[in-house]
Amino acid sequence: MSTTFEQVTAGKTPAQVLEALEASEVREYGIYADRIGGHIAKARQLCGEDGTEISGVTAALNNADTDYVQLSLLAEDPAKVLLGLRILAFALGTDCMTLYLPAAFAPAAVTAQAAGTSPAAAGKAAELASRLQPLAEEAGVALKTGIVDMRAERYAVHIHIVTAADIADCFDGGISDTVLLSVNGQEPQKVARKAAVGELADLAKAKAVYMNYRYMTPEEAAKVTADSVMNGLVTVLTGSDCVVADCEKRLLADRAQSCGKCVFCREGLIQLGYMQKEITQGRGKPEYLDLSREIGEAMCVSDLCSLGQETAKKALSGMETFAAEYGEHIRKKNCPAGVCMSKEHYYIDPKLCTGCGDCEDVCPADSIEGRPQYIYMIDDLGCTRCGKCIEACGEQAIQKTAGRLPKLPDRLTRVGRFHAR
Ligand code: SF4
Ligand code: SF4
Ligand code: SF4
Repeated sequence: MSTTFEQVTAGKTPAQVLEALEASEVREYGIYADRIGGHIAKARQLCGEDGTEISGVTAALNNADTDYVQLSLLAEDPAKVLLGLRILAFALGTDCMTLYLPAAFAPAAVTAQAAGTSPAAAGKAAELASRLQPLAEEAGVALKTGIVDMRAERYAVHIHIVTAADIADCFDGGISDTVLLSVNGQEPQKVARKAAVGELADLAKAKAVYMNYRYMTPEEAAKVTADSVMNGLVTVLTGSDCVVADCEKRLLADRAQSCGKCVFCREGLIQLGYMQKEITQGRGKPEYLDLSREIGEAMCVSDLCSLGQETAKKALSGMETFAAEYGEHIRKKNCPAGVCMSKEHYYIDPKLCTGCGDCEDVCPADSIEGRPQYIYMIDDLGCTRCGKCIEACGEQAIQKTAGRLPKLPDRLTRVGRFHAR
């Protein structure tokens, strides 16, 4: 960054800098996308309604972001992000500035495990955190880790790290015409802001695209421009990926990042995650879809920050746009991608079953039918593959197979009377 704070503000009043910003092309990046003037006006309106003033300025990733793609921008040029934050604070007449890093970047938490990826990623996190510390101190910016506490920072103007960099660029020759984009978790690349995702990612074999905290069809995703990708991440799911399993994994990451202060976020994430897991493990029930929808909709309106709100939308979009895939998991206990649940089938060997009924008593899915002295049968669609019947059968009559099922009775048959033809 060649321009300094002193050069930007020399001989200017805060009102003049604010005016220049409002007239600029700078837009808030991410979930709360808006022209910077409109973004500030919304914060002012909230303060006005509560009879207070803007309390400070924060720069962070959106709370809903668990992939951290845009941190690369901070790593590349931390001085630029800090400068943008200072310029906005000056324009708004505050000297309270905070830059948030994800919790995994807290110096004490920087381990391979906390960074969530690899020793190399942990090393990068440690390096960024230590490089930022002296720069932030010098700029008078408080460095915090974790998601932005929207209760404590209610009256601050919150900007995305990308917006902070754009503000600095705006006073140094103009904002960049590129943004960072990562496709399928690869190193983020600088791409033209207005380039369409369809030109940047190979969607030829795509079944779904996870982007903007939603599961979309490839056709929908192809039209989105790079600067509208809210966290800079595009994940292409093909026929060998499962939308349900992907969503379950993302819900887990969201839950780990949630502060848990909103009841709907805390409890909703537990419930949504539980149902999603049950579905992937073949224990999904049709009513889980309605229940998830109800919980998700409540989270959208009741949760305070983007983490709870966007998590809910992600689960809702998966269930709605890929309803057939969810239905296949729930009704047929089948994962079309072959990712979830075992392909194994449980069956009762008609030659070994003595018709005691012990297995029926232990089946939590009510998926074994029969009658004493008759050969018992397993309903494969209802069976959740829990294995409890195997343990209960003293005759070792219950078997598992990943291949074809042998010929089995299709109606109640007395013990000893079944003959496979
Ligand atoms: S929505 Fe979730 S992460 Fe955000 S403030 Fe509420 S509990 Fe915390
Ligand atoms: S417990 Fe075993 S022997 Fe008894 S009914 Fe079930 S399968 Fe048949
Ligand atoms: S594995 Fe056995 S006990 Fe478990 S759900 Fe299937 S039939 Fe029932």
